[in-house]
This record gives sequence, C-alpha cells and structure tokens, in this order.
Amino acid sequence: MSGSHVRSWYAASAPDFPAQATLEGTLQADVCILGAGITGLSTAIELAEAGLSVVVLEAQRVGWGASGRSGGQAIFGFGCDQSKITQAVGLADSKRLFDWSLEGLALIKGRCAQYGINCDWRDMHAHVPIKPRHITELKNWQNDLAENFDYPLQWWDREQLQAVMPNQRYLGALVDTNSGHLHPLKYTQGLARAALGLGVRIFEQSKVTQLVRGDRPVFKTVHGQVQCDFAVLAGNAYVHGIAPELDDKIMPVGTYIGATEPLGETRAKALIGNDMAVADVNWALDYFRLSADHRLLFGGRASYSTLPPPDLSGTLRRRMARVFPTLEGVKMDYVWGGFLDISLNRAPHWGRLGSNLYFAQGFSGHGIAATGLAGRVMAEAIRGQAGRLDMFSRIPHRNFPGGRALRTPLLVAAMAWFKLRDALF
Ligand SMILES: Cc1cc2nc3c(=O)[nH]c(=O)nc-3n(C[C@H](O)[C@H](O)[C@H](O)COP(=O)(O)OP(=O)(O)OC[C@H]3O[C@@H](n4cnc5c(N)ncnc54)[C@H](O)[C@@H]3O)c2cc1C
Repeated sequence: MSGSHVRSWYAASAPDFPAQATLEGTLQADVCILGAGITGLSTAIELAEAGLSVVVLEAQRVGWGASGRSGGQAIFGFGCDQSKITQAVGLADSKRLFDWSLEGLALIKGRCAQYGINCDWRDMHAHVPIKPRHITELKNWQNDLAENFDYPLQWWDREQLQAVMPNQRYLGALVDTNSGHLHPLKYTQGLARAALGLGVRIFEQSKVTQLVRGDRPVFKTVHGQVQCDFAVLAGNAYVHGIAPELDDKIMPVGTYIGATEPLGETRAKALIGNDMAVADVNWALDYFRLSADHRLLFGGRASYSTLPPPDLSGTLRRRMARVFPTLEGVKMDYVWGGFLDISLNRAPHWGRLGSNLYFAQGFSGHGIAATGLAGRVMAEAIRGQAGRLDMFSRIPHRNFPGGRALRTPLLVAAMAWFKLRDALF
C-alpha cells in the first residue's frame, strides 16, 4: 500500500514512528534532501549539527526504502572488491577510502550512543566459503587487507566455525569483529528522531516530481516546493527521472529476505551460537543472522526484473534448509524484498552535478555503513570541504550498456553466467 512500510519483520517489530506532515506551500532552506533513508538522514544530521536549516522530502515514509528493509549486515569496505578502487585511484588513496569505510562503521556505533538509538546492534560478521576456490579467494583477500590496508581479519578453519555454527556447508570463515548487524528500520527511524531533535523538517508522502536547477535549486512536489542553496539526491534505486544523467549509472536489482517463526532461544543459539552475521561468497549469495527475538533472518534471492520472483517463501525456505537442514518445515512468518542500486563496477558513485547539487548512489548492496559515510562526506562538501567527496568522484563510472531498454536483459545474461559459475566451480 502506498505510504506504508512493506510487510516485514522489521515493520512489525520497530516502535511506532509518528507520521510526518506532507509538504504544502513554499519553504526556504539552506539544504533540501530528497530521500529519508540512511544517506539522506545522515546528511541532514551532519548539516543540522553544524547549524544549517535542512528539509528532507520523502515520497513514502521514513525508512521505507532499502534502509528499512535490508539484511542489516553492517560491513567494512564497499560493494566492489577494494582492488577495483585501487586500480582507479592508486593504493595510497584506496587506503584512505578504505579507512573512511571504517569510519562509516564507527559512525553507526557513535550515533547510537550519542542519540540513544536502540537498534539491536551485535558485533561480528563472517564471510564463509563453500568451495575450495572460495578459501583461496578469502585468504588472498585477508592477506591484501592485512598487508595493504592494515585491517587484519581472523581466519577460522572448519572446526572453529563448527564450534559456533555446526554446519556441513561451509569450509571455514573469514571473521571481522568490528563489523556486525542491526535492526535497520529501528536504526533509520532513530536517525530520523535525532534529525527532528536537531530541528530538521522531515516531510513524508511528499514525492519530488521535479528538480529545477539554478542558483537556488527548487524541489517540487505535488502540493508544495522547497527552494534551497544546496540540493541533495539520496533516493537510491527508488528515484528516477529527477537527474537523468544519474539514472543509467545504476541498475535496480530486487533482493529478498525471509524471517522464520520464532525458534526459541535454545534452538536459535544452536544455529549461530555467537550471534554473528554470516554471508557466503557466491555471486548469488545467501546471508543470514538471528533476530533479537530468536528468528532466523535469511536473505538469498535476487531478481533482475522489477517483479518479485514466484514462490518466494518456498525458494527462501529451500535455500535456508540447504544451510540449516534442521529448519526443514519451519514457517516463514515474513517475506519481503527491496531494490539495490547496483553500479556497473559496484563501486560507490558519489559526487556533484554543478556547484550546488550533490548525490550518492551505487551502494551495490553494501550500504548500511557506507550510507552514513556518504551523508557525512556530502555534508562536508556543502560546508566547503570537498576533499573527501572529490576523492570518491575520481572513481570512474560507466552507464549500463544497452540503455534503459536493454540493460536488464544484458544483466540477466551476465548474472546467469555468474550463477552457472557458482554452481559448477
Ligand atoms: C533487501 C535488501 C537487503 C540489503 N541488505 C544489506 C546488508 O545486509 N548490508 C548492507 O550493507 N546493505 C544492504 N542492503 C543495501 C542497503 O540497504 C542500501 O545500500 C542502503 O540502505 C541505501 O540507503 P539510501 O538511504 O541510499 O536509500 P534508501 O534507503 O532506499 O532511501 C531512499 C529513499 O528515497 C525515497 N525517494 C525516492 N524517490 C523519491 C522522490 N522522487 N521524492 C522523495 N523521496 C524519494 C524513497 O522512498 C526512499 O525512502 C540491502 C538492501 C536491500 C533492498
């Protein structure tokens, strides 16, 4: 239903967030931001903390997009392999960008502490291999991160992993104690509460229908408009047609999650004894973690059309039982999905169009920590310190080949090859 959150375990378990007014009439602001996900709200908080007047326009509700639906796995780095960033900007700057991704993780913990946001944060994340070639890939990655980025991760062999996650499917784990997981809707709504407390004006049900560029950009909605010194686009995969030069740089890809019925503490802990978040390293990956009320949240189905796949619940249950055979027959109480904003090289696409229009997109399924950083970096640039945003802008981005009509079929063909590779090698 328009204006409601999608039915999900997150929407069912987050406290009520008061509805915000719809924009009517004309407002003035130093900065106007399109989108009330983590990117937009993080930008708003940074700017309001610095004393600027900020308006956020949200087409639906706070956290309605990917920020309120995600797998909740908050991980270092970006959506692409760090080596791609190194190729683009050189090792020294790649190291800087990597360090800033860690700042994105620290920002989550810092904001939760500063603004009293309870979002069920749990430490620890593991990338797990299924095949011998994955072990080699993960160990090479571990070496690269340790040697070039001063970021040591732990390698667990199969026995160590089985001590906390008894499981026949995975051959070991690359573990990071600094990454972790959270309840993404509670976190996003917590950011919105913080922003409101700082005087940010948030309007819901206020879809931007047009951006008029100029010395003082204007965001127009059906019932109102906001004129501002600086405009920020933080609409992720859900925005389209507002800045057409950005649209072909990303591709919306559907991804899906299920939440089981409550398993009870004993049964849940028997699955993942240390409560870490887990993701395998297949191209079409499975990722999962426990919820605070002892469900398994299991994600693992992507779709390259904009339609939800058929029999989603059955597919997720089958994939889940492949990982945890003891969950065969367990009910999925909730199944939902959302869109990722994949860039062609999966690297972050952040920058500006002209002197007063800023954007951040291309989080490529790796946005929980990076979105907070994007907000901070855009806010710095608006306040006259563009060094970090300019560094991100140096990463080159190409349009998806085939234009609007063909990019989906071409991506489907590419993904079919990667899935085949997952299955065969
Ligand atoms: C199912 C799923 C699982 C994921 N799992 C993970 C994970 O485990 N770990 C991880 O790091 N990342 C994950 N991601 C990615 C991560 O959630 C996103 O990268 C991140 O939340 C993007 O935040 P955002 O604020 O940029 O965009 P969003 O949260 O999508 O916010 C954009 C907002 O803009 C609004 N909007 C769009 N157009 C307009 C308009 N014209 N006018 C006004 N408002 C508009 C939308 O309504 C939306 O609320 C996942 C994503 C999905 C969908």
